[in-house]
Amino acid sequence: MPDGFVTPKPATIRNIGALIEAGLADNHTRAVLDAVAARYAIAIPPALAALITAPDDPIGLQFIPHPGELTVAPHELADPVADEALSPIPGIVHRYPDRALLKPLLACPVYCRFCFRREQVGPEGGLLTDAELETAFGYLGGQTGIREVILTGGDPLILSPRRLSFILNRLSKISNIEVLRIHTRAPIADPALVTDALADALDIKTPLFIALHANHSSELTPAVQMALEKLQRRGIPILGQTVLLAGVNDSEAALGELFRAMLRARIKPYYLHQLDAAPGTARFHVSPERGREILANLRGKISGTALPTYIYDRPGGLGKIPL
Ligand SMILES: *Cc1c(COP(=O)(O)O)cnc(C)c1O
Ligand code: SF4
Repeated sequence: MPDGFVTPKPATIRNIGALIEAGLADNHTRAVLDAVAARYAIAIPPALAALITAPDDPIGLQFIPHPGELTVAPHELADPVADEALSPIPGIVHRYPDRALLKPLLACPVYCRFCFRREQVGPEGGLLTDAELETAFGYLGGQTGIREVILTGGDPLILSPRRLSFILNRLSKISNIEVLRIHTRAPIADPALVTDALADALDIKTPLFIALHANHSSELTPAVQMALEKLQRRGIPILGQTVLLAGVNDSEAALGELFRAMLRARIKPYYLHQLDAAPGTARFHVSPERGREILANLRGKISGTALPTYIYDRPGGLGKIPL
């Protein structure tokens, strides 16, 4: 079809000019936001931009760059969970004896302003070469205590179905690996990414769990639910991961609504993460006391199956502990 016969699809917002054009930032903040953009990647795909009703609503806050990102508090760390120190070879993070992370790439379909890996992720980011992947498979097979491999990144679900299929099939042939997991935000950032080909690539014999990162009930749109159903119909259980964020979900009403929306979408709320102290994220901080209070108030009001574990990943690679 010649150009101009179809309405052009809105593009992903990737710079401050596009952000201003979309009415999500003011021209007078342009210089400071350009400085933020020079430091941290920006991507707001159309599916998420459509949910933003104001820059400071729960969706806008998560994805629109903010001048506060240039202010680094003394306790904030470039690598708060010590991925680097726990990485024996490129792409692998091995902290716990029975499970390891495999990061096949460091790009995401959307960049969250509070991301704990914000100094590492970005559009050019860290696509493992074939040789690096082979070395990673060798490591995972050589460490026979590893039972579970967690694909994370970046977002593994933006890989082509062919590449994903290759990686999953190779992992499933390693005899010590019993279970696979994928951490993703892709079905929310761009539900159209979840094609039948992608769902087929995930439809493997080895048990595969998906942990979906969602922070507000409005992220679980009908299109997102349809994308998730494609995976669920293939027997893939979906877990919910949420970051407790000031202004986004730090209330009983917001978290209660999110967890109930997850159950309606057949998602089991798994973890509520205490925010990791990545650079320039102080505006999202909620105290552990307040987090505990919200969860305690929800207990008894909503189904026990809707309640996640409130978890804190201690700085320096000390590992996760329940709060
Ligand atoms: C969070 C994390 C995991 C997964 O932990 P679970 O408690 O099993 O969800 C594994 N390895 C590393 C390095 C992690 O940071
Ligand atoms: S999708 Fe995950 S890895 Fe990517 S920017 Fe958001 S929090 Fe970070």
